Amino acid sequence: MRRSFAIAASFLMAFTALASSARADALEDDLRGLSDEQLKSTVEFAFNNSLFFMFHEAGHMLISEFDLPVLGREEDAADSLSSLLLLEMDDETFDQALVDSVDGWTFSAESGQEPDLFDAHALNQQRAFNMVCLMVGKDGETFQESADDLDFPSDRREQCVGEYRKARKSWFGVLEPHLRDDDGQSSFEIHYLKPESPELASYADTFKESQVLDLLKDVLVTYNLNDDIKLTARECGQSNAYWSSDDREITYCYELWREYTQFMANYYREEETE
Ligand SMILES: [Zn+2]
Repeated sequence: MRRSFAIAASFLMAFTALASSARADALEDDLRGLSDEQLKSTVEFAFNNSLFFMFHEAGHMLISEFDLPVLGREEDAADSLSSLLLLEMDDETFDQALVDSVDGWTFSAESGQEPDLFDAHALNQQRAFNMVCLMVGKDGETFQESADDLDFPSDRREQCVGEYRKARKSWFGVLEPHLRDDDGQSSFEIHYLKPESPELASYADTFKESQVLDLLKDVLVTYNLNDDIKLTARECGQSNAYWSSDDREITYCYELWREYTQFMANYYREEETE
């Protein structure tokens, strides 16, 4: 998957060009005042978190399409599966997606919102801990900083090696019969729908440029999925991503792209004023 680097680099250029163009719009406003370095890291943060969200939804999709057994909560299963799929790529782009989404969970855990104990997902901080466990379980060196940031105890790090191996064996064990053994590829429908709201226009353009949906497709084609699963980006009226088994569709909302961009941009602006 070396190709992903080229994608990320060309997308970054397009995003930066758009953001600094004379078009006065929401994206430009949101990024105003950031240095080139901050702009780059803001864009990468939004990209990496989106990649993780889409892999999480792909986890739900694989569970649903292949009728995989889920022992425990499906949300936890989707997090583990997406983390394992990203780790299995053995690629810097996907490793960074994991690192940045751990930061994403930690930031939202620290944002002061009341934790929702009834939510189907684990608490944001737990999600970060569970992911980091798999990450250091696979490679304690590459992901050391993520574990250090969370004050991950050293005895836990050691246990995580066994937990990673067990999780990997279990998930890829149930997935293996569904891997394609021919040269064919399942077909997917990728749609980037035009948003109604003008403030999402450049976000929609840059999301398309990022090719997150195409990257996901490139990973999913190795599975023997029935044709015509839809990967759709659209305006939803809320910041979200979701899988619908009835429509056989993974949806990514442009609002999520905007939320993570604003989030990081605001973080840098607040840092400046402190
Ligand atoms: Zn989920």
